[in-house]
Amino acid sequence: MSNYQVNEKGFYGEFGGAYVPEILYKCVHDLQEAYLPIIEDETFKAAYHALLRDYVGRPSPLYFAQRMSERYGCQLYLKREDLNHTGAHKINNTIGQILLAKRMGKTRIIAETGAGQHGVATATVCALMNMKCEVFMGATDVERQHTNVERMKMLGAEVHPVRTGNMTLSDACSEAIRDWCCHPSDTFYIVGSTMGPHPYPDLVARMQSVISEEIKWQLEQKTGRDYPDYLIACIGGGSNAAGTIYHYMDDERVKIVLAEAGGHGWDTDHTAATIHRGTTGILHGAKMLVMQDDDGQIQEAFTISAGLDYPGVGPMHCNMAKQGRTQVLSINDDEAIYGGYELTRMEGIIPAIESAHAIAALKKLSFKPSDVVVLTVSGRGDKDVETYLKNKEMAKEYGKF
Ligand SMILES: *Cc1c(COP(=O)(O)O)cnc(C)c1O
Repeated sequence: MSNYQVNEKGFYGEFGGAYVPEILYKCVHDLQEAYLPIIEDETFKAAYHALLRDYVGRPSPLYFAQRMSERYGCQLYLKREDLNHTGAHKINNTIGQILLAKRMGKTRIIAETGAGQHGVATATVCALMNMKCEVFMGATDVERQHTNVERMKMLGAEVHPVRTGNMTLSDACSEAIRDWCCHPSDTFYIVGSTMGPHPYPDLVARMQSVISEEIKWQLEQKTGRDYPDYLIACIGGGSNAAGTIYHYMDDERVKIVLAEAGGHGWDTDHTAATIHRGTTGILHGAKMLVMQDDDGQIQEAFTISAGLDYPGVGPMHCNMAKQGRTQVLSINDDEAIYGGYELTRMEGIIPAIESAHAIAALKKLSFKPSDVVVLTVSGRGDKDVETYLKNKEMAKEYGKF
């Protein structure tokens, strides 16, 4: 029996649950009843894995990073989610959820997006499956992430700019939930991370668990042992982290280190380090750690990385951090920029600025030379080249490139 998996009521310890408006109750309940029998069905699994292989390009390589290993005095392997179709881990989840939506007879797909990565991954599978797709995106993000907006439109999705609140990811989630309330019977909401009301955190974690399923046999092949000493991943809502650790959660031989976005520092007003800074509250249908003021008003998240820019964090991770199972590091903008340049110059891999937070965690850990470390590169950095170039000076105190 796992200490860290969701229980039958939809909780991870004190976190999780399904706090939804009355009008969504039936629809969320139907999903709770339907998801496990469907995704555990052999024909579903066959369709899902066939698409992961032929469409996404899985398995993603587990790459031994020789030069970075020497620098950090360990055996560093990179799990290359950046090589997936559409450039990140998000497609693993959208493929699974759209197959589920189809089997539940839904005809219209909605999604929220921040940086646009989940929006693009959703628009992609909707084109593939010929489903109507509408994406909610904060108006600020629509401006900041213009190419992803154009990609979604080209893929046939309708993008709705959201002008409430700070006009970013959190507001886009609220708007998607509002839309869902108006169309509960025909619409499937494809949630982009391990957040939202139960069963979404569990559903998304299962869809991403293919990452650690592959790590197991790939490590066995490469090292003769199917577990690492360390797993490292960045964490926003928590989906690439959940996928990376899923099959190792209860294996106490494996240390888990997660990197959240410190922005200017977790103890400043400009941060997205929710596990460091958050207190228990309810956001977007679940109880989790949330950055909020004394009156329970949600505080805006701040980080250089649009994909980590969320004031909450998935309930599975709130519980694991609270139980002491995971070590959570806060990585500031300048450290992440340095990490991005470092991987680029040492290994020829430009990581997403989100993934660069995980790279930067290496500097804060001390390894034995024999330690096997698996670090998930959650996405590729093509979308972030401008950010890296514009902020290069920011990281100069760590070294020069
Ligand atoms: C969206 C995104 C993240 C953050 O989301 P999680 O659900 O925490 O994984 C991290 N990396 C990349 C490349 C992303 O696109």
